[in-house]
Amino acid sequence: MKGFSTKAVHGPASAKDPHGTLRGPVYDNVAFEFDCAKDMQLSFEGRKLAHSYSRISNPTVSEYEERIRFLADAAGVVAVSSGMAAIANVFLALAESGAEIVTTRYLFGNTYSLIENTLKPWGLKVVYVDLTDPKKLAAAINERTRAVFLEIITNPQMQVADVDAVARVAHERGVPVVLDGTMTTPCLFKSKDFGVDVEVISSTKYISGGATSVGGLIIDNGLFPWAQRPNLKSWAEKYGPMAFLVRLRREVYRNLGGCLSPHNAWLHTLGLESLDLRVQKSCDNALALARHLEKHPKVRAVNYPGLESSPSHATAKKQFSRGFGGVLTFQLADKAEGFAFMDGLKLIRRATNIHDNKTLVLHPASTIFCEYSAAEKEKMGVPESLVRLSAGIEDVDDLIEDMDSSLRALGGPR
Ligand code: PLP
Repeated sequence: MKGFSTKAVHGPASAKDPHGTLRGPVYDNVAFEFDCAKDMQLSFEGRKLAHSYSRISNPTVSEYEERIRFLADAAGVVAVSSGMAAIANVFLALAESGAEIVTTRYLFGNTYSLIENTLKPWGLKVVYVDLTDPKKLAAAINERTRAVFLEIITNPQMQVADVDAVARVAHERGVPVVLDGTMTTPCLFKSKDFGVDVEVISSTKYISGGATSVGGLIIDNGLFPWAQRPNLKSWAEKYGPMAFLVRLRREVYRNLGGCLSPHNAWLHTLGLESLDLRVQKSCDNALALARHLEKHPKVRAVNYPGLESSPSHATAKKQFSRGFGGVLTFQLADKAEGFAFMDGLKLIRRATNIHDNKTLVLHPASTIFCEYSAAEKEKMGVPESLVRLSAGIEDVDDLIEDMDSSLRALGGPR
């Protein structure tokens, strides 16, 4: 089994279902019975693998985690309740009060808020640098740094860093790389091949199968020597390369309670099977829309790593296997024109999500980034004139017609 789609559809060999069903059941339950008290003790001590309570593990969720592990060729996976839960769990498992995370200001708005408004008051420190500049990254890392964090394609700036270069700088200094791979998933970008230690994904997006439900993933690629980290040393002595995920499952993840529901795990497993088809179609649509908008007289600039004009194009081409993602952003004259364009659309939906089957549009500065001041938005690369489009899987000619008609209504060409 070599191809991505074959792997996604069939998954790793698992125990035959007693009824021969080709799609596993949803074990929608909480507690699991033990044959004897001793087995129960061994399970709680982590000496015998068994499900005990669905906040900690569940057979439907485990099957989904195993399918992702197989596709990503990773050491292990923990599925969580959302993409935000994935990021929060990883930061809390790697860092402590007084420790530092090195990242960029080009972050998803809620991730920036998690750092600034939730974790900073608990003592986490953060250093923002331009992660496309290895020298600046090297200078930002010190003995208190616990992780370098980046997004594979920053949203809405659509910047792509050279992940290999980031990993080399971080690893030379004994620091793991955590990457948010929501925009690509293992379908477009195999993070393990580029030195990423831990990948987090909002499976709410592509993987869920077209916006069916919220979920997140934490993937340990098995590359980082966890014994080097003081807070994981004793775990590494016991669990070797699984130290990070075992500690996560038995402490941070268990204690925070952000588990994925079995029903959502089942939906995301189903979504996984058609991931390749949907990603391919949305990437093809995004590229066609970006090319069309780039030539449009009313559009001032288009940000999409698939365009030759993008400063990230060469890096993206080197890293991504079959497409440049389904999201693009573009600039009109100002916010008023952005709103008028959005309101003029008949087919494309005004909604906050990405990687839905439907093409969606939003105005980042007044929605996801609305809580930040004009100065902060400027530093975060979110101008008022920017519109974001997440390409769905419709027929592209219909999308172009809808956009053109709305752009036409904006008034005469400049
Ligand atoms: N990471 C990225 C890049 C995102 O775009 C999002 C949501 O839009 C998240 C994380 C958070 O995911 P969720 O909504 O599943 O919590």
